[in-house]
Amino acid sequence: MTYDVDLFVIGGGSGGVRAARTSAETGARVALAEESRMGGTCVIRGCVPKKLMVFASEFRELSGLARDYGWSADAGDFDWSAFRTRLHSELDRLEGIYRGLLERSGVTMHDARARVTGPNEVTLDTGEVITAGHILVATGGHPVRPDMPNAALGMVSDDIFNLDTLPESILIVGGGYIACEFACILNGLGVKVTQFYRGAQILRGFDEEARGLIAEMMREQGIDLHVGTNIVDMWPADADGGTTAMGAPAAKRSADIATEPGPVVVKATNGTEQRFDRLFFATGRAPNSRNLGLEDLGVEINRRGAIEVDAFSKTAVPSIYAIGDVTDRIQLTPVAIREGVAFTETVFKDNPTAVDHENVPSAVFTQPELGTVGLSEEAAREQEEIEVYCTSFRPMRTAFVGNPHRVLFKLIVSKATRKVLGCHIVADAAGELIQMVGIAVKAGLTKEDFDRTVAVHPTMSEELVTMREPVRTA
Ligand code: NDP
Repeated sequence: MTYDVDLFVIGGGSGGVRAARTSAETGARVALAEESRMGGTCVIRGCVPKKLMVFASEFRELSGLARDYGWSADAGDFDWSAFRTRLHSELDRLEGIYRGLLERSGVTMHDARARVTGPNEVTLDTGEVITAGHILVATGGHPVRPDMPNAALGMVSDDIFNLDTLPESILIVGGGYIACEFACILNGLGVKVTQFYRGAQILRGFDEEARGLIAEMMREQGIDLHVGTNIVDMWPADADGGTTAMGAPAAKRSADIATEPGPVVVKATNGTEQRFDRLFFATGRAPNSRNLGLEDLGVEINRRGAIEVDAFSKTAVPSIYAIGDVTDRIQLTPVAIREGVAFTETVFKDNPTAVDHENVPSAVFTQPELGTVGLSEEAAREQEEIEVYCTSFRPMRTAFVGNPHRVLFKLIVSKATRKVLGCHIVADAAGELIQMVGIAVKAGLTKEDFDRTVAVHPTMSEELVTMREPVRTA
């Protein structure tokens, strides 16, 4: 049977675009549908605008440092509206680049929502029906609010880039990547930030020492971080700064149903009741797997909403594949891109390629940053006997002016093989550093390989090759 196209990709984010382009370059006839803007979460409402906001937020502290070094510097006030205009024109430019790349690769673009209406058939919301040899679902994910009354009062990460004005105060709920990154960004931009995390320590899953230092540094910068704390109830605050229902019974408060984000009064598990100009839920993301027609065809979707795939990203229906956040393997852009390339190798190059999800380096863009690759001390201990090499100190640049900032460099080493199983860095530019260390860890280098490397002096990261004695074994 001949199909209209060889491949139909649903979703124009990092994974979908890369898979479409690499497949088209093999000579395959490829079409792609995107219901929103080309570029997806990473480019339009995630990594890229977030990183530009990180850059913007660093100048206040830098200007303080410059003053301490003898400059007559003052960052002054931050002009959100000027920044936002520039940010959005940059996002327009990047979306244009993505469209250009697809066009030059010969991919047919549809600005429409697609539903899978057969193992080899897609129907667009324009009514157009397109048949395809293979269908690739790369629809990503979306931020979720907790399921509680008045949750609509809170923004999610998609909203933050479109604010008309920066709030004076904000409550951020969550302790993951997004919560911690935006707590630091908004604090840097001059917003008074309070953060609630329901667990004992933020950044669950990361190395414990590293998360402890990040929490300490965030507090030191002025973020009012409360762990073991969550929202019990919330209701809209009056525009005049008062509250609509202070003193009213809790049931009445929750009954004031809000439909959009706005000033809010929050009652917390720690007994406090406080007003915030804005509430921001950074409480996780869920896969965009629903209403695509997949379940009807026998594609398996798990309890978390993730599409179940094998190592080659194939679903239970042989002509349908899925990659990226919708499969909830590792929610990172470079992983989705790898999965897209592996899909093309498998399906269009006769070279079955499973994506390697081991030792993926990543960074949390807090201030300071957290860079991590491999196992945390806690996870490594469960696996085998280890040595821990760790140092934490005040780096030269800020110690010079009496700043209490500390950095952390930590290596987890296998006692049996001497391989470095994990590396955790808390420092400015840890994201840049961990990319380099990631090569060594991925290559399976040993502690002795690290030690044979001559230090670059004076740097912070020279500690990675000069730590002689383990701080502990376990
Ligand atoms: P995460 O899953 O990392 O964090 C969600 C946080 O919200 C957790 O602290 C979780 O607590 C908490 N939470 C969940 N539900 C509730 C609730 N009902 N009430 C209170 N707290 C709740 O999600 P993010 O949204 O931060 O990020 C999603 C993914 O996006 C990340 O996992 C990451 O893969 C990716 N990402 C990567 C970035 C990077 O590479 N720099 C940047 C941003 C995102 P608990 O720990 O107790 O479950």
